Amino acid sequence: MVVSSATIDNLLREREQYPVPDVFREHALVRDDRLWEGAERDPEGFWAAEAEKLHWIKHWDKVLEWNLPFAKWFVGGRLNVSENCLDRHLRSPRRNKVAIQWEGEPGERRSLTYHQLWREVNRFANVLKGLGVRRGDRVTIYMPMVPELPIAMLACSRIGAIHSVIFGGFSAQSIKDRVEDADSHVLVTADAGIRRGNLIPLKQTVDEALSGSEIVQHVIVYRRAGIDVPMYPGRDRWWHELAAVADRTCDPEPMLATDPLFILYTSGTTGRPKGIQHSTGGYLVGVATTSRYIFDLKDDDLFWCTADIGWVTGHSYLVYGPLANGASVFMYEGAPDWPQPDRWWSMIEENQITILYTAPTAIRAFMRSGEEFPKRHDLSSLRLLGTVGEPINPEAWRWYHRTIGGGRCPIVDTWWQTETGMILITPLPGSTMTKPGSATRTFPGVSAEVVDEHGRPVPVNKGGYLVITKPWPAMLQTIFKDPGRYNEVYWSKVPGTYFTGDGARTDEDGYFWLMGRIDDVINVAGHRIGTMEVESALVSHPKVAEAAVVGKPHPIKGQALVAYVVLKTGVARSSELSKELQRHVRAAIGAIAVPDDIFVTDKVPKTRSGKIMRRVIRALVSGQDIGDTTTLEDAGAVEEVRRWLKEVEGDRPSA
Ligand code: ATP
Ligand code: MG
Repeated sequence: MVVSSATIDNLLREREQYPVPDVFREHALVRDDRLWEGAERDPEGFWAAEAEKLHWIKHWDKVLEWNLPFAKWFVGGRLNVSENCLDRHLRSPRRNKVAIQWEGEPGERRSLTYHQLWREVNRFANVLKGLGVRRGDRVTIYMPMVPELPIAMLACSRIGAIHSVIFGGFSAQSIKDRVEDADSHVLVTADAGIRRGNLIPLKQTVDEALSGSEIVQHVIVYRRAGIDVPMYPGRDRWWHELAAVADRTCDPEPMLATDPLFILYTSGTTGRPKGIQHSTGGYLVGVATTSRYIFDLKDDDLFWCTADIGWVTGHSYLVYGPLANGASVFMYEGAPDWPQPDRWWSMIEENQITILYTAPTAIRAFMRSGEEFPKRHDLSSLRLLGTVGEPINPEAWRWYHRTIGGGRCPIVDTWWQTETGMILITPLPGSTMTKPGSATRTFPGVSAEVVDEHGRPVPVNKGGYLVITKPWPAMLQTIFKDPGRYNEVYWSKVPGTYFTGDGARTDEDGYFWLMGRIDDVINVAGHRIGTMEVESALVSHPKVAEAAVVGKPHPIKGQALVAYVVLKTGVARSSELSKELQRHVRAAIGAIAVPDDIFVTDKVPKTRSGKIMRRVIRALVSGQDIGDTTTLEDAGAVEEVRRWLKEVEGDRPSA
């Protein structure tokens, strides 16, 4: 990556502060700063003490062995992840507690207690064994959001197989690439998934992906939708038939803490997918600890992480973190606005969900459709809210706080990545004063800094590169089969530190403010502007629901800003709007950040995890090849951008 100048200009300044509500603090697991102080004095001691809360088959010899860029946590220790997430709770009053409360899009409900989940996992572990899966083998999982997806993951972990979950929206080509990269002989899928009332033909996509390839020898098909699918003799088997004849119990394999637990390919916002490899022991310690303290998990909570399990957020905070804590999780199969935009709020009310963890893109979509939908429901069961995935613009933060949280629930804005495995920067809800738009401070035992390209810390309120300066337990072990790329991508930009690729600043209280990806920083007349700040300013206008800002070449300024905005439902387009929005940005952050062009559109190109794919817009705007777009949510959005570009060339007013 070419990093051309030391710092990024910081234009936005948000001053509001939200203290921890007394009623929340009173019952919170963490109420003051002692956890941080202890962890700061002795980070390894802190993580070791947290690790003691898990069940170890053999205790570790050494907490951390650090040979830059490779970290080994809990060296010599042996444990099994499924045993920690299941068996351990069977020996406690949690035995008959709900582990997973599931709702299908058409409305069916299933709940699995810890004991029932344990039974299913044992059987499926034996199914995998019966097909020849051994410890260290890779199993690809391409499933809809049904309980059998976490069951398959936990079954892999039980026998020491490495799972590679592929989000159910990916194409045949994406599956093919990932199966080949992982060299995976077994694939688990379903006949179809259900979304917005439609069937998503997963098995058909798998057949397409595997045609002409010999790598996958066994395909296990879970019957979700009950449709007819071709079953290839010798290769394809039904889940229910195999499970019916499988042995009931399967001993958990004693894995080394340093054995890999899973591979997860990154969503590819920035190019060719990378197989991010995570460990067994360090990962579990990291996600169990962060789940407990950040979400303040108690036995009577019902925790809903809305992420698809195909993303790391689903791995860490729907499956492994909460289950390691014996928590009850809620899981939903379908679209947020199906059949009505109040689906989520009605499920929260009916199930009395207490903690909601979602993404800014979802929050902005709900803001767009209007307050009347959440207002129809009693959301008073909620006590804590969280966000992840992108910087949350203060406007969306406030809406979330007020409209969903009733002004009562703390918000944890959690910064982390597929690579980090666990949340690294976040408030702890019972002790951290929050500021809308800031992920606040590092989790206890984690060290981060904002630096320039030489690795020198930048002054307060100057933007720079976010780096992590010490290893942390859930950090990626490597890129699967590519340690060289691992070293190059993450450990060579600012030597000795983990390079996140994100821009950030810290404020006078030491709070972190994420400014988006470094690739999204634009140089306008010598000012380095983070597009996220301009987007945030646009979204703070009452008519705007969503905005994407990119740079385009400019003869004088070097680059100029171009903005694409999506309006709130019911707002009419007008020829004055563009001027109005330019004035609004000037007032919010200054003349330097005013986009030259503002286009109104119905959708912006996004990844399937809901993030704006600025790389695609940038390429289109500057007339380059748009590259790999298999991770795009909706190819139609690319056509939209092309259409705007034609409009610009034709010099027609577009807003
Ligand atoms: P790829 O790495 O394949 O391009 P991706 O970075 O979108 O895809 P993830 O690992 O899911 O894949 O996302 C991590 C990124 O999301 C972070 O690097 C950061 O840019 C952004 N992010 C996540 N949480 C936050 C947050 N709370 N605040 C600001 N940004 C966040
Ligand atoms: Mg990334």
